[in-house]
Amino acid sequence: MSSLIHVLDEQTINKIAAGEVVERPASVIKELVENAIDAGATKIEVEVMAGGTSFMRVTDNGHGMSKEDAQLAVLRHATSKLYQVSDLSSLVTLGFRGEALATIASVSKFSLTTRLVNDEFATLVEIQGGTITDTREAGGNIGTTIKVEDLFYNTPARKKFLKTPNSEGSHINDILIKLAISNPNILFKFINNNKLVLTTPGNGNLFDTLQSIYGVKVGNELLDVHFQDEGIGISGYLSKPAILRSSRQWQTYIVNGRVISSRSIAKAIDNAYHSMLPKNGFPLAVLTINVPQHTIDVNVHPQKTEMKFADEGRIFKAVYKAVLDAIKMPENLETVASPV
Ligand code: ADP
Ligand code: MG
Repeated sequence: MSSLIHVLDEQTINKIAAGEVVERPASVIKELVENAIDAGATKIEVEVMAGGTSFMRVTDNGHGMSKEDAQLAVLRHATSKLYQVSDLSSLVTLGFRGEALATIASVSKFSLTTRLVNDEFATLVEIQGGTITDTREAGGNIGTTIKVEDLFYNTPARKKFLKTPNSEGSHINDILIKLAISNPNILFKFINNNKLVLTTPGNGNLFDTLQSIYGVKVGNELLDVHFQDEGIGISGYLSKPAILRSSRQWQTYIVNGRVISSRSIAKAIDNAYHSMLPKNGFPLAVLTINVPQHTIDVNVHPQKTEMKFADEGRIFKAVYKAVLDAIKMPENLETVASPV
């Protein structure tokens, strides 16, 4: 009898994986920018057209790749960041699965140009729908440029789920803001449809970074957060209860260098502000939280946006206390206003 079961070929596997890692243009940008951060870039420029649906380009001045590595980088499970599972517990890079480039390249028209500091030329690798179509020497600056065109051109079912260019563009903007906030030492530029929409100073100062993003007026209304207790350190900024949004758009939580989403951190902030907030009003909250690396697990979500804490209750209490301390300073108590 012939068998019904067969092992999927590499390209099919990549396209399926793309469904988990690459949901929309913003997820491509997140992966590419995280790679640039991991490569030690001090300047990252993101350019998109039509909300990233037709064109995305990320240019960094990081350490670049050799010709050999440029060809390996686009293979599935090819990574320079991890050797064995135990490395996960001491990971300092944002990436670790070696999937992003392979999956992105399998659902787009993709090119990678990269140059090591001591090389005379760059290497250009072109891929269409997961197949390498060209590798050659090219001109290029030190660092890496990745271009992604026609995302999902060969997976029409996924393409159908894309929203309008405006909406996809604002998702990219939201993600870049969070990545810029978590890396004040990196100069970020975001150009959407030939317009410069975001630029941060890259001078290492979180406050300056927030002001460049949210404006001087908001910057003037921020409160400092400082908290340290039994291995948990929390710092950052909160807005006075008069400066609010109607969503959590102005909230960024960074745990051990990673931007994450977390219901319990969100809840702890809400609880601390308590009656100072009107219904559906959310303060700006940028919290940089540091915990011992062994008390977190980052490998729980395909897009790595969630994190598992060994003791979630302790994180909740620490955030609650940190926020309470910051907003309970007498001079900070102000009247409640409605969301802007
Ligand atoms: P991961 O980040 O999980 O390792 P990726 O598929 O995102 O997997 O990238 C594969 C590898 O390609 C990385 O481990 C890294 O060595 C290399 N790489 C990707 N992007 C860059 C970049 N911008 N600069 C230098 N190296 C890069
Ligand atoms: Mg990566």
